Amino acid sequence: MTIREIISEPTPVLRKKAKKVDKVTSEIRRLIDDMVETMRVAPGVGLAANQIGVLHRVITVEYAEEPEQPAPEGAPPPKPALYLLINPEISRASREKIAGIEACLSVPGFAGEVERHTEVVVKGFNPQGAPVRIKAKGWLARIFQHEIDHLDGILYVDRAEKVWEINPGEMEDNV
Ligand code: ZN
Repeated sequence: MTIREIISEPTPVLRKKAKKVDKVTSEIRRLIDDMVETMRVAPGVGLAANQIGVLHRVITVEYAEEPEQPAPEGAPPPKPALYLLINPEISRASREKIAGIEACLSVPGFAGEVERHTEVVVKGFNPQGAPVRIKAKGWLARIFQHEIDHLDGILYVDRAEKVWEINPGEMEDNV
């Protein structure tokens, strides 16, 4: 695995639409491995291939969902789940939307308030080429929407109501 450089604005590759993956080759699997490594080192909870300068429709997401009920005292923190998705698409989205604060690894030093669907269903393929379907809500749904936007050359700043400067490390959960 190789840690790749995360590309930041303004770079044309971030504004380009990534191409569908026709076949899951060893090159694609290597790309996914590199993306996981790069996302973890950043650190981030999501990464799209555009962000490392590759125009394939591939995203990685690693996020621990908050439990529905508050965890009892001393309980271990929720374990993050890793999602590796090829050709991801939002197949369903809730009518309901919610505003939340996002920061992007490709727009360092800024955060912004963005409205996203509260729930989405994401379809795609895993690295073995098998179809997957993920029902996501809350922050996980937000991360998927942010990453799939990247594949279409869209950054959160395009959708944000307002964007402001932040100090390094001020935001957790960069994507
Ligand atoms: Zn981003």
